[in-house]
Amino acid sequence: MKNITILGSTGSIGTQALEVIRANPTLYHVVALSANSNAALLIEQSMEFLPEVVVITDDSKYAAVKSALAGLPVKVLAGEAALCEAASLEGSDLVLTALMGSVGLRPTIAAIEAKKTIALANKETLVVAGELITRLAAQHGVKIIPVDSEHSAIYQCLTGERLDTIEKIYITASGGPFRGKDRNFLAGVTKEQALKHPNWVMGAKITIDSASLMNKGLEVIEAKWLFNLDISQIDVIVHPQSIVHSIVQFNDGSMKAQLGLPDMKLPIHYAMAFPERIESKFPRFNFLDYPEFTFAKADMDTFRNLGLAYTALEKGGNMPCIINAANEVVVDAFLNDQIGFLGMSDVIAKCMSDLPFIAEPGLDNYLETDELTRIFARELVTKKHLAI
Ligand code: NDP
Ligand code: MG
Repeated sequence: MKNITILGSTGSIGTQALEVIRANPTLYHVVALSANSNAALLIEQSMEFLPEVVVITDDSKYAAVKSALAGLPVKVLAGEAALCEAASLEGSDLVLTALMGSVGLRPTIAAIEAKKTIALANKETLVVAGELITRLAAQHGVKIIPVDSEHSAIYQCLTGERLDTIEKIYITASGGPFRGKDRNFLAGVTKEQALKHPNWVMGAKITIDSASLMNKGLEVIEAKWLFNLDISQIDVIVHPQSIVHSIVQFNDGSMKAQLGLPDMKLPIHYAMAFPERIESKFPRFNFLDYPEFTFAKADMDTFRNLGLAYTALEKGGNMPCIINAANEVVVDAFLNDQIGFLGMSDVIAKCMSDLPFIAEPGLDNYLETDELTRIFARELVTKKHLAI
């Protein structure tokens, strides 16, 4: 029986993780759950799974959660700091980080310091502070098992292999809803169009990131840290069917790929079960439904974000932190009709060129950079200085 903490249990990954747990009650036990503001769903989940600890980060919802769970053996906590308490709970074996955005940074560090295995969905944490997180995980002997489907694919391909035999990895990208479109078209797209992903149903932020290819950019940075690769070893290839989840090419020229239907429950189940592989009833892939797999080069001229992410990775230091924070601000602004689709990359590029660069940041520098970038990016959005 594995004791599991889910940070972000009310989101797309969190609810799918609970589905996996519901289907495997003898394997997994929930010890902590968290939500930001969706008190109703958090209460429902808490009544069903009876975790030891429940965190609602939005303080204004604390009273509602507390009174709904009164009489149950569940400790209710509020605020962001409580996420660290849930992440380091004594009885927990594995922490699934399914929070959205850089808010995942501190709880992930707390989980590592408490020597919990991490099932990492919250890629922003590795983007912001990949060097710090991987160094801490190595120091504490903690495993980080990726949940992101591409990285889960690579992780699975690497089972039984040595990292130093990797020549290259190919991260596959669906291309999102605007694959094949030009910048003229992108200039006028709406959030409703951007929120319609062809293959995956996900939270709003990652769906916009997929449409702008920032998601792939963040995944390139995530892969660098998870697999200790050089930037030249990480390639992105567009595969609209989303069946080949990623590919590893080894130094003898051999390639391994992992395939499966586009269903996040698969990599969630893999990460929670690791190092075991446990039977599931998920629908099986049928080749005859997919007579053709296609692959194409990613269009970095149209989708500037992917190139910006490679640049951020190449510069290193706090640059990936800047790109992440700027992106979180512009995606939120796009979802609130405050900026156009193309304006998102303009703001991100301006943050990258104007904000102070720190070559060897520590945790405080990351937190400061995150805050400063958000302020600057919001100013750019509201002042509409740029061609947005
Ligand atoms: P969602 O937006 O669906 O869910 C996010 C979760 O985090 C919710 O529980 C939300 O609570 C909580 N949350 C949001 N903001 C805060 C905050 N400021 N403080 C504390 N908690 C917060 O996101 P997804 O599930 O789609 O994504 C989660 C992570 O997984 C992201 O990093 C994403 O990139 C990654 N990922 C997601 C995939 C997917 O298929 N969805 C695929 C691969 C990676 P509330 O519900 O109360 O708002
Ligand atoms: Mg992914």
